[in-house]
Amino acid sequence: MARRPMMAANWKMNKTVREAQDYMAALIPYASDAEGVDVAVFAPFTCLSEVARMAEGTPIIPGAQNFFYEDSGAYTGEISAPMLLDLGVEAVIIGHSERREIFGETDEMVARKAAKAVSSGLLPVVCVGETKEERDAGGMWEKVSGQVKSVVEVLGGEAGGGSIVFAYEPIWAIGTGDTATPEDAQDAIGRIRELLGELRGEDFASEVRILYGGSIKPENVAQIVAQKDVDGGLVGGASLEVESFARLIEAAG
Ligand code: PEP
Repeated sequence: MARRPMMAANWKMNKTVREAQDYMAALIPYASDAEGVDVAVFAPFTCLSEVARMAEGTPIIPGAQNFFYEDSGAYTGEISAPMLLDLGVEAVIIGHSERREIFGETDEMVARKAAKAVSSGLLPVVCVGETKEERDAGGMWEKVSGQVKSVVEVLGGEAGGGSIVFAYEPIWAIGTGDTATPEDAQDAIGRIRELLGELRGEDFASEVRILYGGSIKPENVAQIVAQKDVDGGLVGGASLEVESFARLIEAAG
């Protein structure tokens, strides 16, 4: 089954509402031309209502960078799935390494968020990846497979492969300019797909989209997205300017 590629912008903690409006206005024509690619914009909470409003009627998928798995209650500072859906948000990044490392998110929290996103009708983009030390010590697969398994174990049996996206983001490649080689990206992502096949069957595995993330730039994107199992990219730095993000979208199509 042919999987539709996705190119996803992760703005991280960047952009005011005004900057978000300018960005969206400039991105819409590119996204409208990119017929074969899903274009997603993961914006900070403060910009989400504007991003979702401007994305309406365009092919852009508005996304959040995080949420909490309870619907409401005494969780100061948190945002729930119903709140995101209320704004028209359609997708959410879960378990980005910055959230795991700086804010202490555990595999268990990431898994609960992924299950809640799926059951709420939000498309989760679940990030997995190893540190440099783990890779150098030969522990890449132990780390990544553990992260993937903990998420898949809690997904309801009815969840199909199209209801979740994974992003393989080696931590040493995020924001460092040190991109994984296309072969390393394919190796990890191919193994994730094989593991999904063992856990949930071949149909599920062949439907799930798995992105690569980590210092993707216009100069290196073509070789990465050309890999058999790589279904697009999750992009931080090179997504902040529309011109550069538009070149990535074009390469993914
Ligand atoms: C990311 O934030 O998910 C990411 C991959 O960042 P960058 O492209 O800047 O490495």
